[in-house]
Amino acid sequence: MLLIRGGTLVDRSGQRPGDVLISAERIAKVGTGLEPGGAPLFDASGALVVPGGIDVHTHLDLPVGAVRSADDFQTGTVAAACGGTTCVVDFAGGGRESPDEALREWHAKADGRAVIDYGFHLTVTSVPEEAGQARQLFSRFLQQGVASVKLYMAYPDRLMVDDATLRRALDAARETGVLVCVHAEDGAEVDRRVKEALREGAAGPEALPRTRPPEVEAAAIRRAAGLASDAGTRLYVVHLSSAAGLEEARRAVAGGVDLLVETCPQYLFLTAERLLGPPEEAANFVCAPPPRSDEDREALWGAVADGSVAVISTDHCPFRKEDRRRGVRARPEGWADFTEIPGGLPGVETRMSLTYQGVAEGRLSVERWVDAVAGAPARLFGLGHRKGALEPGLDADIVVFDPSATRGLDAANLHMRTDHSPYEGKVVTGWPALTVSRGRIVARDGQPADADPGWGRFIPRKASSS
Ligand SMILES: [Zn+2]
Repeated sequence: MLLIRGGTLVDRSGQRPGDVLISAERIAKVGTGLEPGGAPLFDASGALVVPGGIDVHTHLDLPVGAVRSADDFQTGTVAAACGGTTCVVDFAGGGRESPDEALREWHAKADGRAVIDYGFHLTVTSVPEEAGQARQLFSRFLQQGVASVKLYMAYPDRLMVDDATLRRALDAARETGVLVCVHAEDGAEVDRRVKEALREGAAGPEALPRTRPPEVEAAAIRRAAGLASDAGTRLYVVHLSSAAGLEEARRAVAGGVDLLVETCPQYLFLTAERLLGPPEEAANFVCAPPPRSDEDREALWGAVADGSVAVISTDHCPFRKEDRRRGVRARPEGWADFTEIPGGLPGVETRMSLTYQGVAEGRLSVERWVDAVAGAPARLFGLGHRKGALEPGLDADIVVFDPSATRGLDAANLHMRTDHSPYEGKVVTGWPALTVSRGRIVARDGQPADADPGWGRFIPRKASSS
């Protein structure tokens, strides 16, 4: 039992003063003047009381060539809890194994280690030609609690699917309610540009943006939106990075396509300039899509504010400096060119606070912030029956967010298992004072509290809703 008293409750419909009473892992009551009835009290006056953050894009314990992402399900979920996130949906599998193998493996990685609840997406590289079989496959995913799949339009020879495969996935999704997510970059065009850059001797991280420019993202979104339109199926674009891609997404929505978009803090805060420094420094900012320009950042902030971007996730995929240097081929002398640098950034701990800066700076409403980091991810990814709102009966996943707390985002202040932070030197305003996972206090003032490995459970997800 716990009574969180005297805070400002926020969800997408608005803000109001109130208390939240927690009992037996659930929200028991929401209202004003609630009596503790013996429950311990937490004084939330001056703070926001919000549904726990839900990060629907993480890569924990992921093998990438010769190395693996630095956070496993324990360190990654402890870091998430410290930053106010109470549920992650991780991408199971590296893409080469069968969906069954991937799920088994990911359950084994998470089971007994996670300190907050979690779910899995599956990466799909092939879809049966026969519609009935495709439908059966997707139904089976849903029966196993996996309500979303991701298909890659990039990385030929490894993960990329052709348009016919994507169309079959969209058809099976329409029939089953599974949500189709796409990594929208035109893989053939990226490959052509990579070869061209290497031929010209551009082998360092500074060459990354020219090989994956905004138009490569925009072109893929246009194609995918066309397929979703023909199929009459909802489509979700992960990690949107550019104004050009946003424009395509908005055009599709205006044309009636049920297209939803996610972005990540790196595209709201970082620019491609980070890739221009000394290669060993710049290597720490390698990710795909790469960070863009200030104009792109501004466009994305506007889209979060007006709802054109529905969700902010992280694409959390941290690497240590040494792992970046060794690269995907494990050369003792370090990577030969930028294509061998493992790509991805840490972010699961800093997402809530970084995006709150949008509220602090007057760029977006507090309601939009809460919806982008918790409400919309819950609804779209089939977690709404358990999480994402302050309603009696739902899991008591709650964050008391102190809007006046300040924190430096240097790696030394954080719990993600990396030796660098993309936001070194940056100080944010607003940090969780308390993170509650199913009624249990898993973090206080950004430090782990009663965060027992194994407390976090797999949450079977349902079909996507709006
Ligand atoms: Zn990702």
